[in-house]
Order: sequence, then structure tokens, then C-alpha cells
Amino acid sequence: MNKKDEAIAVVAGGAGFVGSHLTDALLARGLRVVCIDNFQTGRFDNLAHLEHEPRFDLIDADVIDPPPGKLTRGSIKPSYVFNLACAASPPHYQADPEHTLMTSVVGTHQLLHLAEMTGARFLQASTSEVYGDPEVHPQRESYWGNVNPIGPRACYDEGKRAAEALTFDFLRARRVDARVARIFNTYGPRMRADDGRVVSNIITQALADDDITIYGSGEQTRSFCYVEDLVRGLIALMTHEKDYRGAVNLGNPNEISVRELAERVVEMIGTRSSIIFRPLPVDDPRRRRPDITVAKEVLNWQPEVPLADGLARTIQHFSSVADAAAKVPLRTASRKRRTADENRYAAS
Ligand code: NAD
Ligand code: UDP
Repeated sequence: MNKKDEAIAVVAGGAGFVGSHLTDALLARGLRVVCIDNFQTGRFDNLAHLEHEPRFDLIDADVIDPPPGKLTRGSIKPSYVFNLACAASPPHYQADPEHTLMTSVVGTHQLLHLAEMTGARFLQASTSEVYGDPEVHPQRESYWGNVNPIGPRACYDEGKRAAEALTFDFLRARRVDARVARIFNTYGPRMRADDGRVVSNIITQALADDDITIYGSGEQTRSFCYVEDLVRGLIALMTHEKDYRGAVNLGNPNEISVRELAERVVEMIGTRSSIIFRPLPVDDPRRRRPDITVAKEVLNWQPEVPLADGLARTIQHFSSVADAAAKVPLRTASRKRRTADENRYAAS
């Protein structure tokens, strides 16, 4: 992938937080990009700056449905298919769990078929959630995980695990050249203000002087990766020619408790907010940190943006976007949605 490369990349989920940054990075490298998105959690705003970009196409479609004819009938022949389509925030993916599971299973199957049909290389955006509430720390790719298969997170975790299984079946059968990224918590500009994940929640609450919500004691940990670092890793994974065929962790090993994260944001913003404690969601993982030895060795990749810098850029983003743009309503994907709270606290 270089400036002269006029290859076409399909980015499913390209209107979302990570997908829109990936789209920008691919265009900057000279590729054409076709984004497929159903705008369930994605936003037109994330792509508005590409309205007059001749190398960019947007298809409003659900990946569960067969890919649009212009992709399957050969008028557009992609070299790369990135599958990022799937709501990633717990309240959003739990709002319509059936659709979330089908997105990962049926949607991934549809996109694997598209890659097989066109000869494109395929990348599945998987997740650290395949490790569940991990009993091994930090998490290496060889760890099989500790996932509750019938809890409220299962629609996401088990969907992503099934998507990995499908991807590796296509790979073993030599039907598709495929790669799997296990992405750890990523943050940055273009997260939705109502995304529900911890970084966007804490920043938007602090900026508004609202109470800052910590779920549980706040002693649980995560390791936060800035979106620019992640996108570099996704492209490195898609384009490497090494003889490595396993899943690859992409994340920042810098582990921090949720309470410490909140305290840092409070200090950076100088807010009058108070920190308040709310019940811990069911099956909330207690700790998470990637072992990125494989990414370092195979991709020569590691994160570069320190948390303080990434948070400053994200705070700057949320300070500058108009509330209306950041809080466009979620589009109901298909069926009846439960409220986020009904799901977050639902017993399994
Ligand atoms: P996001 O919710 O901002 O983006 C997901 C995009 O997929 C949205 O634009 C949404 O509208 C679209 N989408 C959802 N279901 C779809 C469907 N059935 N058909 C078509 N489009 C659909 O989330 P994100 O943070 O940008 O995550 C992108 C990908 O990375 C997801 O697959 C997610 O599971 C994975 N991931 C993200 C993180 C993270 O911390 N951001 C961590 C682990 C994995
Ligand atoms: N969390 C929190 N306050 C919030 C949102 C989330 O304390 O307003 C916690 C959540 O319970 C979890 C951690 O922060 O322990 C990360 O949550 P997030 O939804 O960002 O990601 P995930 O749980 O998928 O890692």
C-alpha cells in the first residue's frame, strides 16, 4: 500500500469512530475507499469532509444483507476488505443483541464471501472481549479466554469469537487471505458523545460539570490506545507479507484503573464535577492489558501516542463539536431495542 497504489479498499463500518479514521488513512495513502455502513452507531458527520472526494464511495447498507451488486458484479473490484461493522460500546451493542450477533456472524460471512469472490485480502476487527474476564494477565493471543456465553455481553463476545472462527476456516481452506486484529480499548476524536464508553462519558461529563459516573469501585483496569496508533496497526496487519497467520493483539499495554482515568480527566479539564459510583455492569471484565509481542515482531508496530496526549486531543475534540452533531439519534438497526440500562444490569 503506497501513494501510487490505486487499489480499492472496502471498509465495512466506515462511518463509525475507528472506521472513519481508517478511511482517512487509506485515502491519504492513495487508495480508493468504498464504505458500507447502516448508520446504526456511525454518523454522516464522520465522513462529511469526504463529500467531494472522488476516491470515496458510501453505500448505506447492512452487512447482514448480501453485498450490493456493484461490489459483487465486478464493477468495483476491491483488493482489501476491512470488516469493522459492529457496534462496539456495551450499551449500544446490548440494545439489540440479536442484531449484534447476526452482524458478527452473518455479516462476517457475507464479507468473507465478497473477499473470496473478488480475491481481496480480508481483515476482521475482533476484540479483547474474546478473552472475556481474563484469568491470564496480560492477555496473549494464545489465551482462549473466559467468556460467559449466556450473559448480556455474549451477543458481542461470542459473535466476535464466531467471526474469528469463520475467518480462520476460510483461511485454512485457502479461500481467503485473512487477518484478525484483536483490538483493545481505543479512544479519540469522533467517538459519539452518547457512545456510553468510559472515555467519552467521563470527558463529556467533566466538560459539562456533570457528575462523573464510575461503575463499581473503579479499581477495574483497561489499557487505552489512541485511535491513530490503532489505525496504523490495522493497516500494518492488512499489508504485511510475513508468514504469520494467527490473530494479533492491537492495543496499548499502558494499564490504568478506571478511577485513575477519571481523576486524570478531572485534573486536565479542571471541572467542578463530582465522581459518583454506579453499579458495576454484569460480567464487566476486572482487568485488561494486551501483550503486544506478536504485533511488535510481525508488524514492527507499537503505540506511540501517550495517554496524556491522546486525552488532550480527545478533550479538544469534545470541546469543539456542537452538541447536536455529537448526539444524533441512533438508528434502530432492525428490531425492538431494549434500553441500555435494562441490558447493562440484566442478570444473565
Ligand atoms: P462504532 O460503533 O463507532 O463503529 C461501528 C460502525 O459499524 C458504525 O458506523 C455502525 O453504524 C456500523 N455497523 C454496525 N452494525 C452494522 C451492520 N450490521 N451493517 C453495517 N454497518 C454496521 O465502533 P468502533 O469503536 O469504531 O469499532 C469499530 C470496530 O472495531 C468494531 O467492529 C468493534 O467491535 C471493533 N473494536 C473496537 C474497539 C474500540 O475500543 N473502539 C475495541 C475492540 C474492537
Ligand atoms: N465505565 C465506567 N463509567 C462509565 C462507562 C464505563 O466506570 O461511564 C467502566 C466500565 O464498567 C468498564 C470500563 O469503564 O469497567 C470500560 O468500559 P467501556 O464501556 O469503555 O469498555 P469495555 O467495558 O468494553 O472495556
